[in-house]
Amino acid sequence: MKQFQPSYIRSHREGTLRNKILEINDSNTNCNLCPHRCGIDRTQLNTGKCKSGSLPVISSYSPHFGEEPPLTGSLGSGTIFFANCNLSCIFCQNYDISQCGVGEEMSYSDLARIMINLQQFGCHNINFVSPSHMVNAILNALPEAIEMGLNIPLVYNSGGYDLASTIKILEGIFDIYMPDLKYMDNSIAHELSGIDDYVERATESIVEMQRQVGDLEVDEYGIARNGIIIRHLVMPDNIAQTNKVIDFVRELSTNTYFNLMDQYRPAYHAISNPKINRKLTAEEFQRAYNYALDNGLSRIAG
Ligand code: SF4
Repeated sequence: MKQFQPSYIRSHREGTLRNKILEINDSNTNCNLCPHRCGIDRTQLNTGKCKSGSLPVISSYSPHFGEEPPLTGSLGSGTIFFANCNLSCIFCQNYDISQCGVGEEMSYSDLARIMINLQQFGCHNINFVSPSHMVNAILNALPEAIEMGLNIPLVYNSGGYDLASTIKILEGIFDIYMPDLKYMDNSIAHELSGIDDYVERATESIVEMQRQVGDLEVDEYGIARNGIIIRHLVMPDNIAQTNKVIDFVRELSTNTYFNLMDQYRPAYHAISNPKINRKLTAEEFQRAYNYALDNGLSRIAG
C-alpha cells in the first residue's frame, strides 16, 4: 500500500496552511470560530462562552488506549485534552477540564513539541479533544511541528457544536474528523448543553467534514488514515432522539464508521435532572443498536 502522507504536509508545502492561519487568526480577533460567535478579541480577552484566550490551555496529553480501535491501534492515540469547551453539558464526565478549565496555559511552540513527543512515543495520530475553540492554536503550532518532523494524521475530536465555515477552513489540515452527534432535538440540547441550535450546526458541520474526508479508510494494519467517525451516546428514554441520529448517519453514508456508545451514567449535575439521573439500561442500548443495524449501517462500533 502506498505510504500515506497527512494532508497538512502538502498544505504547508504549497503555502495554503499559511493562508489558513491568517484567516483563522483574523477570526480569532473578532471571534466567530464557533457558532457562539462571541465577537471578542481573544488576543486580549477570555470572556467568550469558551472562557479561552488565544493560547492553548492543556489539561493533559498522553497515548490513549480507550479510543476506537482504528485510532488506538497497538501504540495508542496521541490525545491532547484542551481545557474549556464551547458546550456546557450538565452530564459531562470531564467537567473539571471542560467546565472548570483545569490545565496549564502553553505557547504554540509548546503545543508543537507535545505533538512531536506523542509521535515519538509511537502514537498513530494526534487526537485533539475539544478542538472547536482551539483551532487557532492548532494551526499556529502546526508549521513548527511539521518542521520538526510531524507526519501522523490529526484527529478533530469535537462535541459537534462546530461552524461549517470554520470546518471549511480546516480542509487539508485534519485527515480524521470525529464529531459527536449528541442530539437531534434542540429543546433537549438547550436543557442539557445550553445550546439552542445544536442540531443545525452539528449536522451542517458533519456534512462538510464528510465532504472533505469521506468514509473512514484504514491501512493494512487497520489503523485510520483518513475519514470520519461519528459518535453518539445513547441516553435514557431516548431523549437524545437516537433514531433520528441514525437516520441522519444513514443518509450521510451507510458506510460511516459509527460509534454508538452505551456508557451513559449521571455525572456532574445530571443527578439533579430527573430525565437523566440514571444509567442507560441494556434494553435501551440494544433497541438503539438494532435500529442502526436495521437501517443498514454496516460499521457500527459499540
Ligand atoms: S471559540 Fe470561544 S470565544 Fe470564539 S465564538 Fe466560540 S465560544 Fe466564543
